[in-house]
Formats: sequence, structure tokens, C-alpha cells
Amino acid sequence: MKYLLILLLVLVVIWAVKRGRAPKPPQTPQKPASSSPSEMITCAHCGIHLPQEEAVSGQKGLYCSTDHRTVAQDRNPV
Ligand SMILES: [Zn+2]
Repeated sequence: MKYLLILLLVLVVIWAVKRGRAPKPPQTPQKPASSSPSEMITCAHCGIHLPQEEAVSGQKGLYCSTDHRTVAQDRNPV
């Protein structure tokens, strides 16, 4: 009976160790929303990168300045 208890204890320990080492599901890091204020965009005319809040929006895309929007023969979508 004593050996049975020891065997049971060993089995419980092995089970606990296996359970502790079980592979956890891969955690996908939460990326910030695309509307994040620090998101960088590319000027549709010259290709320069700039923060989205500084971009000038046109009908064809986003630009670094109103000059490039004009050069690209685009205009304010509003
Ligand atoms: Zn530009």
C-alpha cells in the first residue's frame, strides 16, 4: 500500500510538470489601431514618410504638402 501511494505521488508530480510545460497558445501582440496618431504615411508624390496628422489628403492619396498635392493634379476631397 505504501508503494502505491508513492507511485501515485510520482504520477501526480509528473502530471504537474507536464502540465506546467504544456505549450501555451501563441499570443498575438496587440498592434495599435491604424488610426494611431503616430502612424507614418507615404507622400503619394515624392514618397517621403511623415506622420499621418501632418499629411495633406487628396482624392488620390495622401501628400506631404499642399504643393505636392497640386503637382500631382489632385485636390482636396472635401
Ligand atoms: Zn511629397
